[in-house]
Amino acid sequence: MTKRIDGKAAALDVRRKVAEGVALFRDRIGRAPGLAVVLVGDDPASTVYVGSKGKATLEAGMESFTHRLPTETTQDELLQLVERLNDDPKVDGILVQLPLPDQIDEDAVLDAIDPAKDVDGFHILNAGKLAVGQQALVPCTPYGCLHLLKNELGDLSGKHALVIGRSNIVGKPMAQLLLAENATVTIAHSRTRDLPALARDADIVVAAVGRAEMVKGDWIKPGATVIDVGINRLPPEEGKTKGKLVGDVAYDEAADKAGAITPVPGGVGPMTIAMLLRNTLIAAHQREGLEAPAL
Ligand code: NDP
Repeated sequence: MTKRIDGKAAALDVRRKVAEGVALFRDRIGRAPGLAVVLVGDDPASTVYVGSKGKATLEAGMESFTHRLPTETTQDELLQLVERLNDDPKVDGILVQLPLPDQIDEDAVLDAIDPAKDVDGFHILNAGKLAVGQQALVPCTPYGCLHLLKNELGDLSGKHALVIGRSNIVGKPMAQLLLAENATVTIAHSRTRDLPALARDADIVVAAVGRAEMVKGDWIKPGATVIDVGINRLPPEEGKTKGKLVGDVAYDEAADKAGAITPVPGGVGPMTIAMLLRNTLIAAHQREGLEAPAL
């Protein structure tokens, strides 16, 4: 029978271990790790994400610093704030919530973050380290996916993994992480030919596309493990104000074939914040010259 992978439970487990690590860190260093989150503008989804991140940070026993800036903030003003956070000894992690307003160059801001505090793992130095197999702060969503896969499958060595999507925040780091685990990795994108055939050959499918229910049940090799990163809102049904949230995988069909599969919501989503807390704890240890706990 297909197993529904419970991302909520896995995330709670990581968060509990992070909270234990925070308590030990506080005993040793005399302060809690600190995470600064910067929000520019009032995008409703970003506002919710930033609120949840602040709450989770406090629940883990860390210090939370939230900076809300107006939509018309200039690039210079944002860079000055990043500089201040880089210099602030109480801040171990800095996250600038994306997307940023049009007048701000995202890459310039991400590259201004001290790589040692880059808990989103988007700085080019961390991306490069991941690519060449050095220890790095790794983007939270793909790291969360890897955690679920290892929980499920243990050793990933020799497995054929198909990653659908090649963005810098999900697809590419996901592929690097799987490669580092000795999986044989195929990366698919919008120009890939015969995606269903590639999927049918994969022991692991990670879908990070942003297209509702694109991956069909008959694409899935029997027994494969399916990780659905996509978050898509369907148009509302009649009489409803909000549409249903679905992933990039047609869940019911795929669940009939897969060995294990993540639902949307309740799969990958909760892992992202858990891994952000984990990265902050690791950054805090590294900044203090301590060995980071294995989580
Ligand atoms: P992007 O839009 O940056 O990338 C999408 C990728 O999908 C691109 O590489 C694109 O190819 C590829 N693609 C588009 N259409 C097809 C197609 N028909 N066949 C194959 N590949 C295709 O998205 P993100 O990586 O940022 O996010 C992907 C999804 O994950 C979204 O639904 C997003 O909401 C969700 N997400 C969820 C998170 C969570 O916490 N659960 C966190 C981050 C993202 P090409 O490069 O050729 O254009």
